[in-house]
Amino acid sequence: MTGPNRIAKRLRPFGTSIFAEMSALSSRHDAVNLGQGFPDFDGPAEVLESAARAVRDGPNQYAPLAGLPILRRAIADWFDRRYGLSVDPDREVTVTSGCTGAIADAMLGLLEPGDEVVLVEPWYDCYPAAVAMAGGRCRYVTPVAPGYRLEAAMLEAVVTPRTRVLVVNSPHNPTGRVLDEAEWDAIEAFCLRHDVILISDEVYETLTFERPHQPAWTRPGLRSRAIIASGVGKSFSLTGWKVGWTVASPALTEAIQAAHQFTIFSVATPLQVGTATALGLPDAYFDDFIADYRTRRDQLVDGLRSVGLEPIVPEGTYFTLVETAPLGIDDDRAFCERLVRELGVAAIPTSSFNAEGRSGPIRFAFCKQREVLAAAIDRLRGVGSLLR
Ligand code: GLN
Repeated sequence: MTGPNRIAKRLRPFGTSIFAEMSALSSRHDAVNLGQGFPDFDGPAEVLESAARAVRDGPNQYAPLAGLPILRRAIADWFDRRYGLSVDPDREVTVTSGCTGAIADAMLGLLEPGDEVVLVEPWYDCYPAAVAMAGGRCRYVTPVAPGYRLEAAMLEAVVTPRTRVLVVNSPHNPTGRVLDEAEWDAIEAFCLRHDVILISDEVYETLTFERPHQPAWTRPGLRSRAIIASGVGKSFSLTGWKVGWTVASPALTEAIQAAHQFTIFSVATPLQVGTATALGLPDAYFDDFIADYRTRRDQLVDGLRSVGLEPIVPEGTYFTLVETAPLGIDDDRAFCERLVRELGVAAIPTSSFNAEGRSGPIRFAFCKQREVLAAAIDRLRGVGSLLR
């Protein structure tokens, strides 16, 4: 690009999203893209049909800023049916532009300049950017690989009188961790002790392989101070719809909507109709969904092992990490670029997910058709040549 850099200073440190970069590199080299996490198959036919019908027959005008009443009701019913939690669809739900939009609305609606937000490394890249856009400052905690357990002492070490928000993500992108009881104890105690608001990114809520997902609200102490963010993209293979939501107490919902009304105002109306249909699908859909993903997970993990790599078996999400340091790699990004150029497989370097850009494991996505996963493994057979 020529000319002066017009990007606001607060956004310059973030550069171009690694997902966009790796997907572009992947198509340039005609690679198998196990980088950016989007399914290469579409969601259920009846959900597509429901949205298509809404486009044909309406509603096609602005939805209310909080979201269509039928979708807010479907979200409340979802919490009741899956988790036994009671949510007020009129005062505790906001439909957002994806889960990323939910997180941005929450930060913009809550933070005063200089407020501090605690992020857990490796984080998802939109978190620090949303904090920066809202004028906040990030503090980081860094659980240790390969367990990535969040410890109370880590949180206590970074708290200050300005700490306003903690962000957690379970199931976790990119580690595949699902928070356990002891970690939830630590999170709940921390938020209560320091009067901190929790933003709980639960967008992979239906993708757990070992133990069921536990929403933040199952903790009584978090009922009034946790904002749960999720969306339709992952659970229904509809990432391009960008329909997400927050569930939060009425007071926190007011803060979220104070921002949402001026950033997005309201989300694509017919897709909200489709999303309400999705959330109402019978249990059999979710049973098949997780069984299917378990097969994909095992295919990728076994395949990576068969080429001599050592993937983490994820407890949740559709990602697996491969540690690079034991392979003698000290630049995960350069390694990912070589994987694309020389072997034709795209992955994501996790150096994009910590504040210092430290080289770390690389992430492979398994939300892909089985032939695609097989083709990737086939190409990765040559990985030894990159390691010498
Ligand atoms: N959530 C997706 C991932 O982690 C990426 C979405 C995006 O490209 N921003 O791969």
